[in-house]
Amino acid sequence: MNELLVFMCDGAPVRGEIVSISSAWQAVLERRNDPPVVRRMLGDFVGAATLLSASLKFDGTLIIQAQSKGPIQLLVVECKSDLTMRATVKLSVEADSIDPNATLGELLDADNTGRLVITLDPSDRQPGQPPYQGIVALQEHRGTVIKPVTSAAEAIALYMQNSEQVDTRIWLASNDTHVGGLLLQRLPDSGGHAHLDPQLAAEGWTRIQTLGETITNEELLTLPPETILRRLFLEESAENGVRSFPARPVRFSCRCSRAKVADVLRMLGEEEVESILAEQGAVETECDFCAKAYRFDAVDCRQVFKTDLLADATRPPSSGH
Ligand SMILES: [Zn+2]
Repeated sequence: MNELLVFMCDGAPVRGEIVSISSAWQAVLERRNDPPVVRRMLGDFVGAATLLSASLKFDGTLIIQAQSKGPIQLLVVECKSDLTMRATVKLSVEADSIDPNATLGELLDADNTGRLVITLDPSDRQPGQPPYQGIVALQEHRGTVIKPVTSAAEAIALYMQNSEQVDTRIWLASNDTHVGGLLLQRLPDSGGHAHLDPQLAAEGWTRIQTLGETITNEELLTLPPETILRRLFLEESAENGVRSFPARPVRFSCRCSRAKVADVLRMLGEEEVESILAEQGAVETECDFCAKAYRFDAVDCRQVFKTDLLADATRPPSSGH
């Protein structure tokens, strides 16, 4: 069960998505050894990333990234519009020193300066054109009161509100084997739902949210999306119609490659690489996402810097030469 289902309501200006991920999520965890509280949070962000990716109107990659001074130093979840995803976290402390009941704020926002960056990177982006980035503070400042964001779902809903100006409700649940999520988005009253008058539209949005609120973590973690859809919106579909589109598969996939590691070595510079070689005999590194090991011995490294000349030739010529 690794699938995402998109649905539309005929009687309300609502687009919804339900995701259920099991083996693809287990593939992320297989290579990791994080404490359960960190795994659950990573899982919630994996659920959020797939739900947000499925609503992208372009081909590309959605990246949710958090950098913090808390026990989680770095969290990265990437999901492409074809719903292939990968995820990683980096801890700044020993795993067993993390409070098993830590909240998102405590993990990611120890000093109330934490934030989440959501990057939308279209695959046809021109060189030099920056990807779109939205930033979500992980705390709400109300006068002198600072209210920490308590869950991934709340953080994502705030992001949707602030950067996309779309009313969004999101429910996420994760454990060691499953990630489940439900997303409801209010569509403009006009357009596809031109037949709904504003009051009916507002009532419809409220009605669908109320139905959404009855979802339980248990359901999100155990039921296939079709079953959740039928259960939640039984009455709605009888009276107004709820249409779903064919479910789309969610897969784990890493984009790391030997060529990308070679690029990193080039960025480090020949001198630095030579000194690693002198010390360790080879440059060894492991992918943060899939734990694949890469090893470059002296001969490989020489090759890396030799091909640098070729790589240079493909770059735009600098002016005047
Ligand atoms: Zn990898």
